[in-house]
Amino acid sequence: MKSDEFEHWACKAAEFTVAYRDGLNDMPVRSRTQPGDIYKALPKAPPDTGSPMEEIFADFERIVPPGMTHWQHPRFFAYFPSNAAPASVIAEYLVTGMAAQCMLWQTSPAATEMETRMLEWLRDGIGLPSDFAGVIQDSASSATLAAILVMRERALGWAGNTTGLSGGPCLRVYASSEVHSSIDRAIWFSGIGTDNLVRIPTSGAIRGMDPDLLDQAIRADLNAGHKPVGIVACTGGTSNGACDDIAAVVKIAKTHDLYTHVDAAWAGAAMICPENRHLWSGVEGADSVVFNPHKWLGASFDCSAHFIRDPQALRRTLAIQPEYLRTLDQDGVTNYSEWSLPLGRRFRALKIWFLIRYHGLDGLRDIIRKHIEWTHMLCARLRNTEGIEIVTDPILALFSFRLENDDDKTLKLVEAINNDGRIYLTQTKMSGRPAIRFTAGSFAMQASDIDIAYQAIMDCRKALS
Ligand SMILES: *Cc1c(COP(=O)(O)O)cnc(C)c1O
Repeated sequence: MKSDEFEHWACKAAEFTVAYRDGLNDMPVRSRTQPGDIYKALPKAPPDTGSPMEEIFADFERIVPPGMTHWQHPRFFAYFPSNAAPASVIAEYLVTGMAAQCMLWQTSPAATEMETRMLEWLRDGIGLPSDFAGVIQDSASSATLAAILVMRERALGWAGNTTGLSGGPCLRVYASSEVHSSIDRAIWFSGIGTDNLVRIPTSGAIRGMDPDLLDQAIRADLNAGHKPVGIVACTGGTSNGACDDIAAVVKIAKTHDLYTHVDAAWAGAAMICPENRHLWSGVEGADSVVFNPHKWLGASFDCSAHFIRDPQALRRTLAIQPEYLRTLDQDGVTNYSEWSLPLGRRFRALKIWFLIRYHGLDGLRDIIRKHIEWTHMLCARLRNTEGIEIVTDPILALFSFRLENDDDKTLKLVEAINNDGRIYLTQTKMSGRPAIRFTAGSFAMQASDIDIAYQAIMDCRKALS
């Protein structure tokens, strides 16, 4: 492609993006496409000859947007948000344009050094102490897997990578019943096996794991000849925002010399507001903490901030240095591929730099505080509505509700709401019964979207009866 053509279509792509975002308010949040529609719209065979961009772009506009669920929609209240603030999108354009592979310092010094600085900004922004180092992982799932591999290797005297796991005692990891499924998968992939993921029951208003039961479980395992290796705590569980008592968990971990990883993938962003930090007090004693700037903070996907107290332990677990990756006479530089699972890395720090500089931490705090306030407002209105029951009170910007005494209809209501399209919600289960989750977090959201949400829920409920 010649430069003038490249420029023309790059501008078109930017224009499309802006028009797309501007138009979201009037679109249904969830895609209305039927399974197979998009697949069938694409030809069976790849073309032998090239096509003009004009044609490719027109097909894109015809086929793709209708098949998208609009994550940047102001009334996306499902799952957790995955914001991509315009400032971070612009940075991503630049990153894609430069297209560097940032595995080593030498292969992209600016990406490496900006990553170091941006992770310091984020660390200080969320109030972690300065003895944490940071690295950007592609996802919280990867960060959690890395942390669990460190737990494993640390407990095995760094020999597991060499000797494998057979013949040794069972390695045991502890987590509450509220942790994300990425913890289960990390336990699979690390060879520890989910039979050795010990689930500690939760209790209390914010549904943290019971510290006494945690301590008892560890002691019972020691008596049984097992090898406890670490604890995964959560701040802001996916289903209902559950938060473990991190201080208590860390204290028990230290007693038994266990490694602690805190999964705050969603809630971590809210810690830029000091008033939320009580939810993870004690976190300064953890060994590893992950949160996703690509969720609530506004950095476009993917961008997961992983903080570790001892990066040497992470490198000891993950780094490998075949000859072709050795860099000569560059002592003192960081090669971030030694801190993460994949070798290849994108330049993800640039979007954090753009995002934080554009909004400032205060600007980001304002957005998050509004989301929390609006969530509480909607919760209060639903609480005062006949026939609706609040199942879990708001933790940050997440609560759940259901129709009183009618589980079947609660599930039908979620589907009706999502077909209606004004808002998008997802369901969960609380004590075996369905509940509807609501979480505010879109950067495009306005206060009036709460009224639309309430109205949509009421209209759909009425239509069901
Ligand atoms: C979203 C989420 C994850 C998974 O994050 P990925 O970056 O998609 O791997 C893990 N834990 C919690 C609590 C989450 O909210």
